Amino acid sequence: MDRLWAPWRLSYVTAAQVPATDCIFCDPSAGRDIDLVVFRGEHSYVILNLYPYNNGHLMVVPDRHLSTLEALTPDEQTELMRLTRLSEMALNEAYKPQGINVGINLGKAAGAGIENHLHIHLVPRWSGDTNFMTAVGETRVLPEDLTATAARLRPIFARLQAG
Ligand SMILES: [Zn+2]
Repeated sequence: MDRLWAPWRLSYVTAAQVPATDCIFCDPSAGRDIDLVVFRGEHSYVILNLYPYNNGHLMVVPDRHLSTLEALTPDEQTELMRLTRLSEMALNEAYKPQGINVGINLGKAAGAGIENHLHIHLVPRWSGDTNFMTAVGETRVLPEDLTATAARLRPIFARLQAG
């Protein structure tokens, strides 16, 4: 399995279940050895996915515990889109992906892993990664240590925000 496609050195972890009673987005640093938050805004923040689909998989999350776009205030709407744009720019600079999936899953039937707290996924994509994931099946790919990912992205966010 050493020769499978990946942009960086690979290691593998199996998916773990997040306890349904705890909201990881209301308290994103709870119970973690590493800080996954890479940028904080006024009403929302950007966090690394603990089980990334791809290298640099980010989520933009409102601070408030809400499950629909309808529940967002105008200020929250504006900042979520602003941070999604910043995330696009940061990912393009850090990883130079060939594409980025940006998406929201509203509700369990739509595929939301954490259905009660809204979040916007940004997944960098490269040609061939879909084939790779199909071959690996349930195994998650973790091409880069999350601490390294956070350390790489934080200064980029800070500079882009300042600019
Ligand atoms: Zn929550």
